[in-house]
Amino acid sequence: MKLILLGPPGSGKGTQAQKIEQKYNLKQLATGDLLRDEIKSESKIGREVKKIIDRGELVSDKIIISLIENSIDKKKFSTGFILDGFPRSVCQAKALDKILQKKNLALDIAIELLVEDKKLINRIVGRFSCANCSAVYHDFDNKTKKEGICDKCGSRDFLRRSDDTKEVFAERLKEYYRLTAPIIPYYKDKGMLKSINAMESISYIENNIYGILDSVKKQN
Ligand code: AMP
Repeated sequence: MKLILLGPPGSGKGTQAQKIEQKYNLKQLATGDLLRDEIKSESKIGREVKKIIDRGELVSDKIIISLIENSIDKKKFSTGFILDGFPRSVCQAKALDKILQKKNLALDIAIELLVEDKKLINRIVGRFSCANCSAVYHDFDNKTKKEGICDKCGSRDFLRRSDDTKEVFAERLKEYYRLTAPIIPYYKDKGMLKSINAMESISYIENNIYGILDSVKKQN
């Protein structure tokens, strides 16, 4: 199964991608994570993109498309993948179609997570993740079971993203509406879009997604 998770920053794409990944044995491919790896490795691209990410702007289509092209490896992704944070522009969506066509792969579905703007900021500002296994948590909505210990791997090291601030979030949301939201009709026109209410609890959203994915699986 090959799917895209769409939605504004803070809509829960990363949290849900981690759950889907486990349940359906798919690989999560998050361009934000790929870029943060580049920053960590202090590569030329990493140095270039750090400033862009910290301003809340989008990295150029050219850089992102080549990152994705190199990451969608047919063997590694043979059981399927979840694209999280990609595509983020119509240009990227069209490039993805071409990349998949070349690799003889096809998307099954695009799931849009709908959340009101005013709810997004709290989700972003309270967010943190495990420094070891990248499990995502939140100060209020999704705490670790034992304080200061990752539920999944037991690590005591956590990270907060430098772009998860009120100021940078405002810019990220603007960029979402300017460049990313136009891809919603792109997938709707292809008959591939399912939109779900993502204002509810994590488990409610998770079950809704599972319902959609189970019916895709039956059709395949
Ligand atoms: P994310 O982890 O998906 O919230 O992405 C963090 C930041 O990385 C975004 O605010 C962008 O600056 C950059 N980024 C991630 N994915 C993309 C993409 N597909 N296109 C352009 N920029 C991206």
